[in-house]
Amino acid sequence: MAHDDHSHGAPDPHERLTSRVKAIESLLVEKGLLDPAAMAKMIDMYESRIGPRNGAKAVARAWTDADYRHRLLSDATAALAELGFTGMQGEEVIVVENTPDVHNLIVCTLCSCYPWPTLGLPPNWYKSPAYRSRAVIDPRGVLREFGVEVPDSTEVRVWDSNSELRYMVLPQRPNGAEGLSEAELAELVTRDSMIGVGFPAPVSGQGASS
Ligand code: FE
Repeated sequence: MAHDDHSHGAPDPHERLTSRVKAIESLLVEKGLLDPAAMAKMIDMYESRIGPRNGAKAVARAWTDADYRHRLLSDATAALAELGFTGMQGEEVIVVENTPDVHNLIVCTLCSCYPWPTLGLPPNWYKSPAYRSRAVIDPRGVLREFGVEVPDSTEVRVWDSNSELRYMVLPQRPNGAEGLSEAELAELVTRDSMIGVGFPAPVSGQGASS
């Protein structure tokens, strides 16, 4: 939880980059070269479709391969590199495991540090001041807003990512998933479940009442 290493005294490189990108975006929209709706669609694709699929594959591997799970929990950076998930904003990753006793929640209290190679781009709410402060002060309240009820008997642990170290959650495998292949399991893994603000999708015919 220490944030001493956070190099935020100097202008934050993410925020500088964000301002530059916003300036370029406005210019392109103004010149009629960019359609804001298409842009929003593209961002959504990287935020919630393409990006987090890498993390989902690592989770599904950990669910099906006990040795891999052990490596992922003991040295996530190396275990993720085994699957090719390395690079900028993923130089040092720690994976924390949800169990019936512990529910983990990821935040970056100072900006938006996030493991890009496994989760893609951080969603807007992750970068919002409200999430960043409230995740620490009232994690159960935040979880409730995301529709996640954690029983009182389960400890909630909040992990503060920073520019050197980024966290990712290994969610619990849903009930009834025993017969599923690794690829089928990966389909169940949501981005939010790897941040700790959601659960994996239920196995069809299990859990959810639809
Ligand atoms: Fe940060």
